Amino acid sequence: MEEIFKQVSDTPIDFSFEVFPPKSEIGEKNLLSQIHLVDRIKTRALSVTSGAGGSGNDRTLETIKSLENEVSSNLAAHLTCIAATKNHTQQSLDRYAHEGIFNIVALRGDLNEDLNDLTTLDSYGNATKLVRGIRSRSDGDQFHISVAGYPETHPKAKSRKSDLENLKGKVDEGADLILTQFFFDPEIFFRFIEDTDRIGIKLPIVPGFIIASNFHRVFSFAEKCGAHLPDTIVKRFDGVESGSEEANRIATEITLQHCSQLSENGIRSFHFYTLNRLDLVVPVCELLQQDISSSSKLVRREP
Ligand code: FAD
Repeated sequence: MEEIFKQVSDTPIDFSFEVFPPKSEIGEKNLLSQIHLVDRIKTRALSVTSGAGGSGNDRTLETIKSLENEVSSNLAAHLTCIAATKNHTQQSLDRYAHEGIFNIVALRGDLNEDLNDLTTLDSYGNATKLVRGIRSRSDGDQFHISVAGYPETHPKAKSRKSDLENLKGKVDEGADLILTQFFFDPEIFFRFIEDTDRIGIKLPIVPGFIIASNFHRVFSFAEKCGAHLPDTIVKRFDGVESGSEEANRIATEITLQHCSQLSENGIRSFHFYTLNRLDLVVPVCELLQQDISSSSKLVRREP
């Protein structure tokens, strides 16, 4: 661990947040009423997810446009490729470039059951090929590309080794940053950092967090994406109503504890799956900022 981290005294922390395109007018109002909160803290990027199930990236751009005048943060777009032709994906990139959005989270994406037969679709097919496809554009160097990493291994990967090699492939094609799947035990992230370091991945790796206030929903996401839920965490919500004030308090406390443990070990950037609850997420980040600026610092070695 000492080889991966070095001691410094003045590196500030920063945050990135992902929000999803609202599904209704109420959802839209809700997002717009909270989005300004991100300007209260040092925000590295505010990204908008792309439709799950291969349902496309059009609403991502619409949402980005609706946020452009509301926040000063650097806006980013998640771009999935599995259910679109290469041509269509390149057109999406053209539109982003036209709008001045050069910060892309490049993803394979998942499929809805009804979209399962895509064998004949001329798509990029996976995130490695997508990163290559972005870098091969004439404006390819202008893009800042983040890719996904899986501290607990992608649930459909053949093995941990192949999953790590896949990540290395994305890095070798020109990714700039790795954002991780969320996890509920900081030790899992430390092991991931060691494994990625061992296979020669030197890019910054930003841990992903989700605040489990609506724990029924979050625990179900965790099951789908293979994130291990320690019994100690599950038990803390025993007898608590999902989404209640009490659940908010417990979930916030857990997240703060995990982020603090990471920051004590040198992590300076944090990514939040906000579920459009910036009212819950931003106060946690403010507390973390205060907590960290008053403690001694260790920072992950950069290449
Ligand atoms: P890749 O890097 O191409 O693959 C990752 C790993 O998954 C590899 O080991 C690969 O072998 C394995 N794998 C994936 N699918 C299969 C399969 N069918 N069979 C065998 N192996 C497989 N999804 C969205 O739809 N929209 C989003 O906005 C979005 N944002 C995300 C943001 C972050 C930070 C993360 C971590 C994930 C996000 N996802 C999103 C989920 C992501 O699309 C899925 O996890 C997807 O299954 C893999 O995408 P990838 O880019 O990691 O794929």
